[in-house]
Formats: sequence, C-alpha cells, structure tokens
Amino acid sequence: MRYFPIFVDTQNQHTLVVGAGEVAARKIELLLKTEASIDVIAPYACDTVKQYAEQGRIRLLLRPFEDSDIQQQTLIFVATDNPTLNAHIHQLASEKGIMVNVVDNTPLCRFITPAIVDRSPIVIALSSGGSAPVLLRYIRQKLETVIPHGISQLGNLFEQFRNRVKAAFNNVDDRRAFWEEIMEGQIAEHAMHGQSTKAEQGLIEKLTQAESNASTGSTKGAVYLIGAGPGDPELLTFKALRLMQKADVVVYDRLVSKDILEMTRRDAEKVYVGKAKSNHTLPQGDINQLLVERALAGQRVVRLKGGDPFIFGRGGEEIETLFEHGIDFQVVPGITAATGAASYSGIPLTHRDHAQSVVFATGHLKDNSIDLDWPALAQKNQTIVFYMGLAGLKIISDQLIQHGMPSDMPIALVQSATCESQRVVTGTLNDIVEKAEASELKPPTLIIVGTVVNLHEQLKWF
Ligand code: SAH
Repeated sequence: MRYFPIFVDTQNQHTLVVGAGEVAARKIELLLKTEASIDVIAPYACDTVKQYAEQGRIRLLLRPFEDSDIQQQTLIFVATDNPTLNAHIHQLASEKGIMVNVVDNTPLCRFITPAIVDRSPIVIALSSGGSAPVLLRYIRQKLETVIPHGISQLGNLFEQFRNRVKAAFNNVDDRRAFWEEIMEGQIAEHAMHGQSTKAEQGLIEKLTQAESNASTGSTKGAVYLIGAGPGDPELLTFKALRLMQKADVVVYDRLVSKDILEMTRRDAEKVYVGKAKSNHTLPQGDINQLLVERALAGQRVVRLKGGDPFIFGRGGEEIETLFEHGIDFQVVPGITAATGAASYSGIPLTHRDHAQSVVFATGHLKDNSIDLDWPALAQKNQTIVFYMGLAGLKIISDQLIQHGMPSDMPIALVQSATCESQRVVTGTLNDIVEKAEASELKPPTLIIVGTVVNLHEQLKWF
C-alpha cells in the first residue's frame, strides 16, 4: 500500500489553492464540503471560482503567486497551467512539510484525493493509487447504489447518542451488540426514512431496557458452528457470512482458507486450533471447553470448520458440550468436500447409468488399519467417497479389491477441491497408489471410487 488512507481534520484549518481555472474549481468544490478556510490565489479566475468568492465561501486573491503565500496551511492544491510554477510550489511546500497536491501530476503529489461516497457523517474514500480509475468509478457507482442515502440520518442518530450509550455499557462487546441490534431493526428504518423523533424515542426505550439488563448482569454469549465449505469463498452461505460478521472471537482449524478467514469481522479475535507446526492439534475436549468459556463470558463465538460441521467435523461433540452448559447455539451447514470436489472435478456422485447410491466413509488410519464394513462398501452401482484417506490409500484399494471390486475400477483423487490449486489424479484401484506417489499429492485430498469417475474427462470444467 503506497498511499496510506487517513481522514484529515479540517476544523479551524487553512487551505490554499493556487490557480482558479475549472480544474482548480473542482478541487475547491471538494474543499467546500469541509470546515477549512480556503484561500485561492491566481491572476485571473473562471466564473465558478468568482461565484464562490462572491458568495463569501472562499477568499480570492487575484494576483500572481508569491513564495510568502506558503505559510502553515494544512493542505495545498496547485492547479496552474505553468509546470515550472507548479514544481516550484511543490518544492516550497515540501520543504515546510506541508501536504501538497499538484493536480494531475502524481509525482508532485504528497497526497492524492480519493473518490468519495459522501453520506456525512459516513464518508467512504476509495483509491486505486491512480492505477485503475475506471474500475474505481465502477466500484463507486456500485456503492452509491447499495448504500442508502438515509445512512446519513442514521449516522447522525448514532452520533447524537454515542456518549449516552458509551456510559450505559462498560464493556465494548455489549456496546457493539447494542448498536448492531439497533441497526438491524425498526429504529434504523425510522431514522433512514427521516422519522427522527420516532427513531430517537425507540432508541431511548431500548437504552433504558439495556441499562436495566446490565444492572442484573445478564449478557449472554452464543456459539455459531459454521461450515465454511471446501475452500472457494463463494461457496459460503449467506447465513454463514452474516454470522461471521458478528463474531467477537473466531475459532478455526486447518481446513479454513485464509480468504474465508478474512471475511470474518475484522477486529474479531482469531484462535487457531488446527494442527500447529509441532503437529499437535488442540485436543477436542479443550476446544469444547474454549467455546464454553468464551460464550459464558458473553462473547459471540464463531466456530468455523472446513466443509460441513456435521460431516467428519466432530460438530456433534462440540454442541453436546454447549447444550450441557445451556449455551445458545446455531449450526450452519456448509458444502462438504465430497459435493465440492464432485462439482469442481466434473464427477457426479450419482448417475442413472453408474451409481444409485453414494457412501461417505472415513479413510482415517488407526494402528495401520481402517475399520470399515468393506463388504458393504464394495457394492456395484455405488460411489464411495473417502475423507482423510490419502495416507491409507493402499489399504483402501487393496481392501476393495479383496472384497470383490474389479481391480480396474476407476478412482479419482481430488486435492484442494474448489481452490485455485485443485488437482485431480485418476486411475484404477490397481495403479492409483503409484500415480498418487508420482504426482506427490498432499492433504487435503478426497478419494472418489466408482465408474462415475469415467465422466471426469468429459465433464471437467474447472
Ligand atoms: N467437515 C469436512 C471434512 C473434514 S475431514 C467436510 O465436510 O468437508 C478432513 C478431510 O476432508 C480431508 O482429509 C479431506 O479428505 C477432505 N477435504 C476437506 N476439504 C477438502 C478439499 N478442499 N479438497 C479435498 N478434500 C478435502
């Protein structure tokens, strides 16, 4: 990030614009939105600038620029048609450490002005650092349409009650929860539709209610057990995203991608409980305990899990503990690795000509064996999906052959399904171990066994 975004306080500050043509007028127009005083210096001025002067909104000095004009201004814009003069003013201002912007000449700008969506007191500033103005205009237009104009009034309401709400809650989390409830409800609607008295009354009522709750110490946390899907962030559900934005703390494991983690509330605490470098996972009992402790302390805990929490995710155990402690919770399903891998590799798990049933099994190795009902798995017209099976791939293929599956039965290994780095390796029960080793596949990898795998070549698209 070359340009660091900040908002400059303009109260009781002086600004200077050198130049008074149309280009300068556009910058003056921006400055007029602020509380700063504006001096404009130029030998002659365009009509717009003259008008601003006549209205008493700026001080216009119709004369050439002099070095002594640079004093202690907060910001200076330079927009003359004389490049030598522009560079000279840039130099003078820089020496004095004043923020100077030579319009349309980025090398001579100590700051640049962003594109602005103005819903004061809410102001959104956007910048591409000069690299993609068209894209920027597009994004700004989008924002203009999705952010209601009434947000201004809502912002004013928040400003008006800020101190009272602060006084009513001594804990930041409670304060935030209070404002969020206001934002999602009728009070915000009233404010945004200009019914400010109704909005104020509603807010006072809520505040009184919250104050009496606070005095009885009844803040309540909750746990949201959320399936984050197999990797592609676009596969999150709306509900997952909404609850992720509410988190005070996010407890996540190894399979949750960085992109998805970044979609949780930015200042939420992030707690990693997956495999650390030392190869230790936080024991399940400790994770359960952590969720309980945080929720009892009144926090909103997002427990993010790869895929679906109820498919090889131990989600059941986690909510049992929550239930025992009487903690509020919700479970949000996610797209499990099997359906993610199936779609993104073009291998339908069922198909009229191939498979009438599909089984999800764990290929997890324990004491060098896999405890499964092999005869039930090695059935005709059935697709088998193995989770956690890469290390046990040899045992899986041997067992399936031993229990009657043809050794040329197609099998696919899908690594990092739905992610940019997805890889698919196909073979038969006979040669897949060799192929897997040759292609150096790594976890997370999913195994799909069945004749549906033959459709991959024809249906792959990702
Ligand atoms: N709850 C998860 C599964 C957790 S078990 C879900 O519903 O998907 C972990 C196993 O899931 C991994 O060993 C791997 O076999 C599989 N897996 C998870 N994400 C995957 C991905 N993106 N690509 C391939 N396999 C994946």
